[in-house]
Amino acid sequence: MRREAIEELKSIVGDEWVVSAREAIEGYLYDETPMPIRPEACDDVVVVKPGSAEEISKILRLANKYLVPVFPRGGGTGLAGACIPTISGIILSLERMNKIIVDVDNLMAEAEAGATLKDLIEAADRAGLSFPLHPGDEGAQIGGLIACNAGGARAIKTGIMRNCVKGIEVVLPTGEIVRLGGKVLKNNVGYDLMHLIIGSEGTLGVITKAWIRLQPKDVASATIIIPFEEREQALGMVPRIFREGIVPLAIEYVERNLVEMVAKSLGLKWPCTSAEYQLIVILSETSEDALLGTLERLLNLCEKSGALEPVVAETRKEQDEILKIRSEIYSTLKPNMVDILDATVPPARLIDLIETVNELERKHGVYMPVYGHAGDGNLHVHLMKWNGWTKERYDELRSIIYARALELGGTITGEHGIGYVRRKYVEMVLDRKSIELMRAIKRIFDPNNILNPDKVLP
Ligand SMILES: Cc1cc2nc3c(=O)[nH]c(=O)nc-3n(C[C@H](O)[C@H](O)[C@H](O)COP(=O)(O)OP(=O)(O)OC[C@H]3O[C@@H](n4cnc5c(N)ncnc54)[C@H](O)[C@@H]3O)c2cc1C
Repeated sequence: MRREAIEELKSIVGDEWVVSAREAIEGYLYDETPMPIRPEACDDVVVVKPGSAEEISKILRLANKYLVPVFPRGGGTGLAGACIPTISGIILSLERMNKIIVDVDNLMAEAEAGATLKDLIEAADRAGLSFPLHPGDEGAQIGGLIACNAGGARAIKTGIMRNCVKGIEVVLPTGEIVRLGGKVLKNNVGYDLMHLIIGSEGTLGVITKAWIRLQPKDVASATIIIPFEEREQALGMVPRIFREGIVPLAIEYVERNLVEMVAKSLGLKWPCTSAEYQLIVILSETSEDALLGTLERLLNLCEKSGALEPVVAETRKEQDEILKIRSEIYSTLKPNMVDILDATVPPARLIDLIETVNELERKHGVYMPVYGHAGDGNLHVHLMKWNGWTKERYDELRSIIYARALELGGTITGEHGIGYVRRKYVEMVLDRKSIELMRAIKRIFDPNNILNPDKVLP
């Protein structure tokens, strides 16, 4: 980094918010991407912590002047290496911009990009409302959640980030500050640039603020674990739940051997021991009566669908323990993991994708634990470390799984995004014309290619 660029950065944000000491930048170099696949971070970087959109605008203009890459960084919980600074440049951390104001009458949160998911959940709760979406790690920031269009387990009722965000303030790579949308629920003016920025993984603009739709608070909830002898029965139950008109907060598919192993490592006990293939259904309603009614319909459906005895958790503690075990699957597997995939298929084809994974396990003698957001067809397949396996063999396995997902009418990533680690697979999904259009869009937004320059596009 050039000395004069660093001095100018200090004059924009103040000396104390430009960090270059090795120990202080270490925590900003990587995200949660498993080590075997993450790219090497460049340590010739400075971390800059702006306090406003205006400061970010000045930083981006400076970056264009010196042609220095800028890497927006949220909570660093991403799983595709999207915020890793792979070349010398500026890490732009939004952590100081973390205010949230809740507009109760419009059921809307105005959140700065550096506020975390935990902050948003708590702010909504304090205002007597809720933000039900839960993409895994509560340390993720609003900017990162929007930039990745995150999903997670509790996306069935309200949709993913894209469905909850109604407006954003964004600083374009060339420095202009624009506001797209706002608190309005309908908006039909021109092309929808806001939805172009959502999911663009920090390549088209720096999100500084967002208007996010909140929900009424559900006062009654239950978590039901439904066990089945056969996997087909478990996954076959998912469309039946929807056809019955039941709209749960979450429907997750898990296999008993995996959740029992995770529970054990946490010093907990998985409460359902009767069969291998299980659905976790979270019901959440605005009254106890409504909950009891929905629960009764669900339990009737279980009887008709060949389920064994469901386990119904109603106390907060029981429900939290189940969710904790489910949420910790990733961290428990991580030390022995090469990659976590999130291929997504039409929900009724999930069974076919899992069968392909099982066939690969048998053929190669490897272990690839799976679980997934069954309600939206999003499967997490884990490629685990295996003695003597090379990068090329893992690549081959990954390509087979991706190809199968595409054959089933699906896609290679439903939530974690392309980031750095999946760029070489984009051409499997998109035709030449689509990639050409995306490259042209990137050039219009970012003519000098300074914002997260080596991410997303192949
Ligand atoms: C245990 C665990 C569970 C997870 N579960 C889920 C899950 O269920 N569903 C799911 O979707 N994801 C999940 N994730 C992945 C991750 O939490 C999400 O991708 C999240 O959206 C990343 O947010 P972040 O703030 O950490 O972003 P970062 O990792 O910091 O950055 C991610 C991308 O966003 C960009 N970015 C960050 N802030 C901004 C901004 N202000 N403006 C523009 N671009 C920005 C970065 O440049 C980068 O491209 C999980 C991760 C972990 C570790």
